[in-house]
Amino acid sequence: MHMSSYKEFHRRSIEDRDGFWAEQARLVDWHKPAEQVCDFSHPPFVKWFKGGETNLCHNAVDRHAAKRPDDRALIYISTETNEEKVYSFAELQREVERMAAIYQDLGVQRGDRVLIYMPMIAEAAFAMLACARIGAIHSVVFGGFAAGSLATRIDDAKPVLMVSSDAGMRNGRPVPYKHLVDEACKLAEFPPAKVLLVDRGLDKGFPRVEGRDVDYATLRAKHIDARVPVTWLESSEPSYILYTSGTTGKPKGVQRDTGGYTVALAASMQHIFTGFAGETMFSTSDIGWVVGHSYIVYGPLIAGMATVMYEGTPLRPDAGIWWQIVEKHKVNVMFSAPTAVRVLKKQDPAFLKKYDLSSLKHLFLAGEPLDETSHKWIMDELNIPVIDNYWQTETGWPMLAICRGVEQSRIKLGSPAFPVYGYDLRIFREDGTECGPDEKGIVGILPPLPPGCLSTVWGQDERFVSTYFSLFQDPVVYSSSDWGIKDADGYHTILGRMDDVINVAGHRLGTREIEEAVQAHSAIAEVAVVGVADEVKGQMPMAFAVVKNAADVDTAEKRAALEKDVMKTVDNLLGAIARPSRVHFITGLPKTRSGKMLRRSIQALAEGRDPGDLTTIDDPSTLEQIKAALAG
Ligand code: ATP
Ligand code: MG
Repeated sequence: MHMSSYKEFHRRSIEDRDGFWAEQARLVDWHKPAEQVCDFSHPPFVKWFKGGETNLCHNAVDRHAAKRPDDRALIYISTETNEEKVYSFAELQREVERMAAIYQDLGVQRGDRVLIYMPMIAEAAFAMLACARIGAIHSVVFGGFAAGSLATRIDDAKPVLMVSSDAGMRNGRPVPYKHLVDEACKLAEFPPAKVLLVDRGLDKGFPRVEGRDVDYATLRAKHIDARVPVTWLESSEPSYILYTSGTTGKPKGVQRDTGGYTVALAASMQHIFTGFAGETMFSTSDIGWVVGHSYIVYGPLIAGMATVMYEGTPLRPDAGIWWQIVEKHKVNVMFSAPTAVRVLKKQDPAFLKKYDLSSLKHLFLAGEPLDETSHKWIMDELNIPVIDNYWQTETGWPMLAICRGVEQSRIKLGSPAFPVYGYDLRIFREDGTECGPDEKGIVGILPPLPPGCLSTVWGQDERFVSTYFSLFQDPVVYSSSDWGIKDADGYHTILGRMDDVINVAGHRLGTREIEEAVQAHSAIAEVAVVGVADEVKGQMPMAFAVVKNAADVDTAEKRAALEKDVMKTVDNLLGAIARPSRVHFITGLPKTRSGKMLRRSIQALAEGRDPGDLTTIDDPSTLEQIKAALAG
């Protein structure tokens, strides 16, 4: 695409919405073209490409297999089991057809739900794509969730089939899956009739339930020659359900359509990620999260790229593993999270210089605020543009980003930049009027939401309206529940979640602002700031920080000195009003398994309350550290 002004590109996407999206729709194959680009006759519900018929799996796999059968499609790498396998588009298509035939054999029909609870193995991608192929609705549940969380999601989605595995592997140790499946099925009110199991041989002798459990290898052999044509779906038919990360409590079942999502991903691969057929993308997320759906499985494949599916951590066998993968497979586009950058910051930077990273064009980061210090650090280390992008499970693809495929706008450190085309994103005051430049407010989107965003909350249209569209009566806007700000140049910054805003003596501060200031201190690798109730000031910020170098805080004297010094940094950058009452030093922060800070739980502990629902926590010992720090 020729270089044009991004501003104009965005303006057209809003003002000539139908023309713009009709053009984008040409990036994908349609069995039957749409009758109407955007049906917004029942706001806030929207139907994109109404009457059109397409298929996600066809666009991700078949159309490339037809033209470039031998090109690489899926690169499966496990540093846990030391396996590596590359599937061409032709091979991927056959595996997906086998899986689809197994589904049909097990009675799965169009519109049925299939719950996928799997480690990061190639079969998980086959399982997702096979659903898309036959019009079954997948619901992938992150493999780290315990039986209780799994059972809640089973009961919400009511799957006819579950696909799982004997075990996953994490840090060299097997993590049982099958046991959790059995437990969840016992807890659930609506357990599936069948459970399809990929036996990796990691958990020998796992129990099998007679009549319910079936073996993948056996059925694959039975259907080895199966050819299963794609089922053409009307654009609005659901492709999948995905529960939000659950950082703020009860997860919501985000329902995604078929046509709008396919188009949104295809367009984003060009305009945002600049990924093209024949290239390789490596997203370090998990299929259990939205990034895994959009940018491990569907997005890159729709673009005709090879996608890396990686089972392993960023630090095993050493902190160079990601870069080794980039060198070996000539990765062009990489996608990760700020939390991973902060992990790498604590490692020897030599790992980043050890490999040939010349294939890499961009690194994209999303999921949490990317502080300026970490943004600068990783950009300097890699010497490529690092693009912060802001979005949610609900939207399925970025809402704020620099669209480098359209215009190579300047990167501002710590800012995910501009509203992405299709999103009429604005910052609102609490009364529904729009904020001016540099004025903090709520990040909202004027509907209709663009293609690819959630069409509703699964089975709960009412909840879709009340959760997302009831912030104001007039105007009706989609509320992101995030707090943000836009500067005079149009660059946006996310200041944190609305519920996390800290109110110090009448001044409202986003957790992000204070965290940013603490991070600016050269000794700090990572920090969480929460508001703690204070009789005089309403709330006082309190910081929990992780240092880069443990020796900086190995005595009480050093801790006290560093605490003072960090406070001084905050004073200098934000003023004394934002100074944390305390800076506690710990070695790890409580996060969800998707790498998001559990600020609410930290705050509860700091106020002597119960930390709440911790089913999504990655490392429970971090809470013990916080308790110990608070106890002095
Ligand atoms: P739940 O909605 O169930 O509480 P969650 O909001 O953590 O879970 P996700 O949809 O995975 O689930 O996360 C989206 C949120 O992550 C955003 O609303 C925002 O708070 C945060 N976020 C994502 N990307 C960025 C970014 N680039 N900068 C700042 N915050 C971000
Ligand atoms: Mg959310």
